[in-house]
Amino acid sequence: MSVVGFADSPAPPLPESGPLSPGARFTGPRVAVVFLQPRCNMHCTFCITEDNFNAFAFDQAAGLLRDLRAGGTVRSVVLGGGEPFDWPHDVIALGALGRRLGFTMQVGTNGIAVPDGFEHLDAIDRWVLPLESVQPQSHNAMRLYRGRHHAIVLDRLEALRRVSKSVTISTVITQNNFDEVADVGRFLGKYIQRGGNVHAWHLYQFLPIGRGGAVHGAQLALLPGMYEYVCAQAEALGLPFRIYRRSDMYHSRTVEFYWMDRGAVRCGSEAWAPTPITISALR
Ligand code: SF4
Repeated sequence: MSVVGFADSPAPPLPESGPLSPGARFTGPRVAVVFLQPRCNMHCTFCITEDNFNAFAFDQAAGLLRDLRAGGTVRSVVLGGGEPFDWPHDVIALGALGRRLGFTMQVGTNGIAVPDGFEHLDAIDRWVLPLESVQPQSHNAMRLYRGRHHAIVLDRLEALRRVSKSVTISTVITQNNFDEVADVGRFLGKYIQRGGNVHAWHLYQFLPIGRGGAVHGAQLALLPGMYEYVCAQAEALGLPFRIYRRSDMYHSRTVEFYWMDRGAVRCGSEAWAPTPITISALR
């Protein structure tokens, strides 16, 4: 990886939306998702993560952030995995570096191993947490962690609500929970009424790929048209935050993905561009 020189003195924060500067043209991704490592401390039936990439060393991840800052289009960075808090390096220190570089820093986590007082950390602007259903049994049947992952997520959401910290919710829609997604939206509406700060809700279509999805495709794949129907149901709730349809999470005009492979940083637009992932293509 080439590391473009950029001093770590505080940079002015970059706005998350709108042009970078008057007259600036869009020439690259606005959001960078960094897969810090493939490893995770839980198992999800639909997990699309593959085991075929390496963990970043801290300095490699820091170098990538500096490169992204020098590139000039990225405003927001999501630290993900696998599970970022299963990474053997300091996620919070990396978040603090990203903020000094001017990024809006987000962490996409299953919430299990977040540090005590995570909701108060200045290094992270926003937490991205999963919620597949308001029914514990349904959620826990999809997200396998000692039968109590649902309770952990609710606990993390409560901690964030108490301090009005920004959160984005991600929901993976499968054949097992498609009829429970609207209730997640209603739950989020009430969460906001109670002082919660929901930035956005991402609705991911299940894809039969990865270490979980490839194994459980026959059980979890949605029938044709169901994903669009469920998204329309959620949008009809009129919730006061943006809902993003993510029918193919790996292909987006504005989001780029980065991971480490045998000492080199790879990115999704190079690795995946010729083959958009669609359900019909995989059936
Ligand atoms: S989908 Fe589940 S198993 Fe896969 S990385 Fe995320 S939390 Fe871990």
